Amino acid sequence: MSENARILIVDDDEALLEALPEALRLRMNGIQIDTSQTALEALDLIRKTDYDAIVSDIKLPGMDGLVLMTEIKQVRPGTPTLLITGHGEHDLAVRALRGGAYDFVQKPIDRDYFVASLERAIRVRRLDRQVAEQRVELERHARVLHNVDRGVFLVDDDDVIRFWNPAAGVITGLDAENVIGRRVGEAVPGWAAIGPEVPIATVPGPGSIQAKTLPLEIDGRELWLSISGVKFEDGIVYTFRNLTEDRALDELKSDFVATVSHELRTPLAAIYGCARTLLRSDLRLGEEDSARLLELIAQESERLTRIVGDILLANQIDARRLRLTDQEFDPVGLVRDVVAEVEAGLTGKEGISIEAVTPESAALVSGDEDRLRQVLLNLIDNAVKYSPEGGRVEIELELRDSGLRIAVRDEGLGIPHGEQQRIFGKFYRVDPQQTRGVGGTGLGLYICRELARRMEGRVSVSSREGEGSTFVVDLPLLPSSAREQAVRVAT
Ligand code: ADP
Repeated sequence: MSENARILIVDDDEALLEALPEALRLRMNGIQIDTSQTALEALDLIRKTDYDAIVSDIKLPGMDGLVLMTEIKQVRPGTPTLLITGHGEHDLAVRALRGGAYDFVQKPIDRDYFVASLERAIRVRRLDRQVAEQRVELERHARVLHNVDRGVFLVDDDDVIRFWNPAAGVITGLDAENVIGRRVGEAVPGWAAIGPEVPIATVPGPGSIQAKTLPLEIDGRELWLSISGVKFEDGIVYTFRNLTEDRALDELKSDFVATVSHELRTPLAAIYGCARTLLRSDLRLGEEDSARLLELIAQESERLTRIVGDILLANQIDARRLRLTDQEFDPVGLVRDVVAEVEAGLTGKEGISIEAVTPESAALVSGDEDRLRQVLLNLIDNAVKYSPEGGRVEIELELRDSGLRIAVRDEGLGIPHGEQQRIFGKFYRVDPQQTRGVGGTGLGLYICRELARRMEGRVSVSSREGEGSTFVVDLPLLPSSAREQAVRVAT
């Protein structure tokens, strides 16, 4: 027990300093004993060495044992100190204990008692050290668990959650205080379905088991988690990673590649077909037919240019390379121009009427006219595209105190409630397989939202499935004179 233990004996009695260590070495196997005759020298040694126990005479020349003990408490608060008192010095002994001595022995020293007490002191000191080391270790683990970006939680043998780290809270949106102490099946919605599917390792350690990707639905939000567990004596520790975004982006990307290839192929095929027809020497095409084919080539080339333009613009937005200009323009004129432009592109087959509702005239506003034109073109194009049965599309311009408001209304397919936020996401399409026969890249609304944001405005939607949609663009674009006034007021 006392093996490798190291103690210090402080006493000015030379005979005792010779005899006591001898006696202890005989009884305590492997004990290392340093000795010192003065308190000052002893303090020096104590500063250098973390002894398992210190034995000191209560009466020392220069500094008495009680004062020495106080000094020891400062330097080594955890080291037990045994004091040797003279025969019958009960008062001193009691003061020693009050002062924090571990024990005292009276002269003449009862060796059995002394050895037993010293051994106990060494044992306590060692346990203290172990506890301190374990606490540091535990604190380190706790810090790691607190800061890892993986969700970690512990479920005990009664299926009750006992630990839930902050990442688990962030990923699932379930706070530790709402889940700890509850059964996992009740606290984590959908656990009943995925719990039995989670692979559990019986041997801890990295790579001992392959995590599985499983879905969890929390508050209508679908989460994809890559999750695995490790079985311990008192429960299972689960770790998981959030794959939702990777997975959603992967899906969107593959949809995007499919739709874009389709979107590019359709006009290309039309252009190629027209060009080949025009080139045929065996066909005598009249002027009207040739003109129609050429017109088609021009239209389809424009469509191609727009698709490629959208892709490049989305990239520019993502890379934050988009620069806005600021020039004066007439918003009424802009809305009328855009409507005329879309109308000119209609073949007439759509059975759609487009109407602009604007004030007669308006003051000039300052902003990026081309970007606003792009937003309106996208919205009106969509209104036409997603009105397969025809109907009325209305563009209303309002000049408010806070800026421009432009609403684009249609009587088309409408957008399911659950999709109304997602349609503004990059590549997002409600119907990626084009079962409704309407093509697109899923970039249009993303571009609208981002352009509006850059202009410090916003785009919002309200819609009912089957009844049509209204997209509203609010931009803080004010007549130049009002803007000057506003600036003056602010300064
Ligand atoms: P797309 O190229 O697919 O039209 P958008 O980003 O412009 O891409 O639109 C995203 C999705 O929003 C479309 O796939 C469509 O389902 C839906 N959407 C946009 N505008 C309308 C609208 N006016 N009516 C119905 N659905 C619309």
